[in-house]
Formats: sequence, structure tokens, C-alpha cells
Amino acid sequence: MEDCIFCKIIKGEIPSNKIYEDDKVIAFHDVNKEAPVHFLVIPKEHIESVNVINEKNSLIVSHIFLVINKLVSELGIDKQGYRIVNNTGEDGGQSVNHIHFHVLGGRNLTWPPG
Ligand code: 5GP
Ligand code: ZN
Repeated sequence: MEDCIFCKIIKGEIPSNKIYEDDKVIAFHDVNKEAPVHFLVIPKEHIESVNVINEKNSLIVSHIFLVINKLVSELGIDKQGYRIVNNTGEDGGQSVNHIHFHVLGGRNLTWPPG
């Protein structure tokens, strides 16, 4: 999608601190860290949000969780714990309309979120 910031990151038009890439997804550190470890995993396909997940495209979600499983171990936060966040829509606080999963760790995270 032309004016999507995450599609531009995927195409390399905007630089990112990439930590993982395969044919389906990329993962990179969030530019505005909310925890010592804070990265995003996004599909290469432009999917707007959970609202448009369906039978045809839902396999990407399990793939993203497999990638998260690998990265949290590599980054050493798997044992202590971490949080996976998906913000959807205005009330959910979604600011980029390309589905993404935040992974936050490296500190004790409070609950409930704001
Ligand atoms: P949302 O608020 O939509 O759930 O999350 C979007 C996230 O993308 C925010 O945490 C924001 O800091 C991050 N973000 C926005 N633009 C960029 C960018 O150009 N590079 C990186 N690495 N992260 C970005
Ligand atoms: Zn996009």
C-alpha cells in the first residue's frame, strides 16, 4: 500500500532496525520503545487490522506467533516473561493501519494497560 509506513519499511524505503525477516514477515525494534525490549512483527502483506482477518489470511497470525516464540528466546526474555499486544482501531490505539504485534519485555509490565 502506497502511503503505509510499514509497507515502506518492508520495501526498505524507510530504514528500520530489523531483527528478523522471512518471505512472509519482518520484525524490527519499535522506534519509540516502551520497554527495554520492544519490537514489532508485521506481515509483508498489507492487512489493515484484526478486523479483516479471515479464513484465507489467518495462517499469518500463527506464523507471527512462531516468529515471536523464536525471537523472545533469542532476546532472552522468554523465561522472565513478556507481553504481546495488538491494538485495533481508534479505541484500541492503533496508529498504523497495517496489522502488527508489539512484543514488550525486559521490565515488569503493569496491568491493566491505560
Ligand atoms: P500502534 O500504535 O499502531 O499499535 O503501533 C504503531 C507502532 O509503530 C508505535 O509503537 C510506533 O512507535 C511504531 N512506529 C511508527 N512509525 C515507525 C517507524 O517508522 N519505525 C519504527 N521502527 N517504528 C515505528
Ligand atoms: Zn502496509
